[in-house]
Amino acid sequence: MAAAKSSTDRNANIPDYEYTDVNTKPFHIGSFRNEWLNRLKPSNYSFQQEDEDTFDAKFAKDMGIGADTLAALKTICSLDSLRCHPDDQEPDTDVVPPDPTLQTLIQRKKRQDYKASLKVSKNRHDLYADELERLTFSRRPEAVADMIPEGEIILTINVYYPAITEKFNYVRPHMTLLMTGSHSLAELRDAICCVSDLQVCGEFSNTPDMAPDFISKDHYKSAFFFFEGVFYNDMRFPECQDISMTTIEWTKACSFPPYRQAKMEDTRFEDLTVKVGFPYLYCHQGDCEHLVIITDVRLTHKNDCLDKKLYPLLTHKHRVLTQKCSVCHVYIGRWFTTNDQFAPSDPCLFCDKCFRMLHYDAEGNKLGDFLAYPYVDRGAFN
Ligand SMILES: [Zn+2]
Ligand SMILES: [Zn+2]
Repeated sequence: MAAAKSSTDRNANIPDYEYTDVNTKPFHIGSFRNEWLNRLKPSNYSFQQEDEDTFDAKFAKDMGIGADTLAALKTICSLDSLRCHPDDQEPDTDVVPPDPTLQTLIQRKKRQDYKASLKVSKNRHDLYADELERLTFSRRPEAVADMIPEGEIILTINVYYPAITEKFNYVRPHMTLLMTGSHSLAELRDAICCVSDLQVCGEFSNTPDMAPDFISKDHYKSAFFFFEGVFYNDMRFPECQDISMTTIEWTKACSFPPYRQAKMEDTRFEDLTVKVGFPYLYCHQGDCEHLVIITDVRLTHKNDCLDKKLYPLLTHKHRVLTQKCSVCHVYIGRWFTTNDQFAPSDPCLFCDKCFRMLHYDAEGNKLGDFLAYPYVDRGAFN
């Protein structure tokens, strides 16, 4: 009886798992934030650092202990009590003692030995990721106006590679972004980098200098997100079309439940009703479809990056190997050719320099027969 009652009285603004450890039932993000703000004291989500004495006094009160006990606890649990070096000697924390018996040290030694066996200890992508994390942790803006307000919501959003690339269906998300509740869906769209936005369509063997003028993103600006039965279309530019219309018309003909449309530029995350952990859709360039999963919705913390200007904040990006030019094997491919009498394979990939040296004379006249298409490497965003 009690269980039946609680399930009907469920507060729809508090996320509840639909499938355990998979996804929640739908909830409204803005209302979820308000539920938190109603329950917490402003000091709970304040960005102000509490001074140590106030913290201690509160802690003692919460734990129901006296000041003497707290002082004793602080001494016993202090890091100094773990010291096994003389006071005046700084220990080198990178050195693991020989023949350690502690499991933590044994594991650490293993890891160190493995790392020492590698030719390159850390690649530049890992270094960059570390650097990014270090720069954004607890970061405060220079101008007060750029400060994220207290009680703002932060969403963690995973964007996956397009499903058509089977190779990437089993890898980690292409990118993970942190966004605030006041960001619009259009801002998420602008933060997603996908190689199909950069694709240049057409054959340019006669006019290779013309090629960079046609980038798909400038030509085909339509796109949509699909969350909980609503298509959020990008309608910021006059040439944008409602590309969800085809699907909506089709669903009407097939007696699906009705779907709605809205504009992504007018929709903020805090206006959305979503399931956390559920795969939604981002579609652009007609048929480039990415899964988008919101994996976390929470209040900002004082240790978050608090500089608005750094959001959407990239916290993870999957790196892919780049395809190199088949002549010099140094530079990333920029062109591929077919029916090419000069090429060792069909199709064949060239960097810009090798492509031009091999296929054109000094005056830029085309030599021989071949077809040339601009190529954008997936690793272009590395
Ligand atoms: Zn795409
Ligand atoms: Zn080359």
